[in-house]
Amino acid sequence: MYYKSTRNNALRYTASEAILKGLSDDGGLFMPEKLPVLDKSLKELAEMDYRAVAYEVMKLYLTDYTEEELKYCIDHAYDDKFDTEDKVVLHREGNACYLELFHGPTIAFKDMALSILPYLMTTAAKKNELKEEIVILTATSGDTGKAALAGFADVPGTRIMVFYPKDGVSKIQEKQMVTQKGGNVRVVGIRGNFDDAQNGVKAMFNDKELRDELKNRGYVFSSANSINIGRLIPQIVYYVYAYTKLLKEAVIADGEEINICVPTGNFGNILAAYFAKQLGVPVGRLVCASNKNRVLTDFFKSGTYDKLHEMDDKGEFTEKREFMLTSSPSMDILISSNLERLIYLICGEDDFKCAALMKSLVRDGSYEIDESMRGKLKDFSAGFADEEACAAAIKKIYEEDSYVIDPHTAVAAAVYEKYGAESGDTRKCVIASTASPYKFPEAVLKALGADAQGEELTDRLHEISKVNLPAAITELKNAAVLHDTVCDTDEMKEKVREFLN
Ligand SMILES: *Cc1c(COP(=O)(O)O)cnc(C)c1O
Repeated sequence: MYYKSTRNNALRYTASEAILKGLSDDGGLFMPEKLPVLDKSLKELAEMDYRAVAYEVMKLYLTDYTEEELKYCIDHAYDDKFDTEDKVVLHREGNACYLELFHGPTIAFKDMALSILPYLMTTAAKKNELKEEIVILTATSGDTGKAALAGFADVPGTRIMVFYPKDGVSKIQEKQMVTQKGGNVRVVGIRGNFDDAQNGVKAMFNDKELRDELKNRGYVFSSANSINIGRLIPQIVYYVYAYTKLLKEAVIADGEEINICVPTGNFGNILAAYFAKQLGVPVGRLVCASNKNRVLTDFFKSGTYDKLHEMDDKGEFTEKREFMLTSSPSMDILISSNLERLIYLICGEDDFKCAALMKSLVRDGSYEIDESMRGKLKDFSAGFADEEACAAAIKKIYEEDSYVIDPHTAVAAAVYEKYGAESGDTRKCVIASTASPYKFPEAVLKALGADAQGEELTDRLHEISKVNLPAAITELKNAAVLHDTVCDTDEMKEKVREFLN
């Protein structure tokens, strides 16, 4: 299996090369030449544990890793860093099933991929006889940063630098990052939003002069963002696993279609669900849930991706679109990088066309897809939930089921409820539950009508939810702040040079 760039089909890389590079030199994202299909039945997979399913899925994409190498990566990633034997938990409630993806070390779903990426990358470095030290540059809307730091801290042959929007993440997210230990880590707040951070990082990747300068000094950049195919592939696993568990528990019949609803930011997690469908998992609808930053909702409804204007009731893009900070900060994104991979697929892998659309997004702030491409989006539905709808979903689910969900998951729950009511679709649905409510105690307590002022919010939330405080939270209480650098976006490059000096 080779990988090619969404903007240039002539470039061909092995999986390990693609993982090392992160982003193609032409600015495109790596895509498998052909989307694979499972070579075992879902019934067979239903008898396997998470690691074994991970192997069965990942071996189809990472064909230049030996069985021994891949199993080494999987076994070291999915160990007792996770607080549950199964690595994920399925919480069932009526027709909905919450797929809890937050049982890893940083209590957000990013751990599912970022606990294995360092192993995939260092194995790739060995395979490709890389001489340089790998420098991970990452922009984060809050959760990727900590999960990447945790994954790469003190991994020999790597360094990691994380940029986050100084005023755009939750207090706990920030504290998790600025207290990160490790001799090879650096955390920097930027004055700007997530898109600014992401653009700054992308610009450095595309800065040939900077790359050459660092190469001479023995460094090479790579990415831990979901633009790296090594992030996306491990995320496919849990959708396959969820289906097989539902099958094993006889919640669904063999071959029965399920829907999947994903709270979406950069379009990575939902794209992984789409890949799972292509693998042969019976998936009906993929429901893309956004918060008020609803650029994806507008896109799926109209075929126009416009980061500068919002769609009105008539389908016209007239109103100025503002970037909004919400209680689901990991979805406060206006440029969903991974959508490029879907665009590439629906335009028939036409690299020229895909590159032109992406160019127009940079130049004009928007692009429009044609009818034939729109016709290939039938697997998707999309909706958004504003702050009130999100809070109402947290409250309702707690009142009905004594189950507390985080604001990101609540966006998905609210959107799915609306989708179900409007479509009459009664298929069972897996809702990706992407973060522990303990990561966002203020927003969750407010939604529940509880006191959200002062300190010890997590303890208060514990009294309500009765769910044990995860180690990720208790460890924070006495952790020392180790990183306090803040800079403007145009200083990011300087900060990288300083870090590597
Ligand atoms: C990153 C994140 C998301 C969005 O995932 P994408 O892959 O960027 O679409 C949703 N919820 C949480 C908690 C996250 O950390």
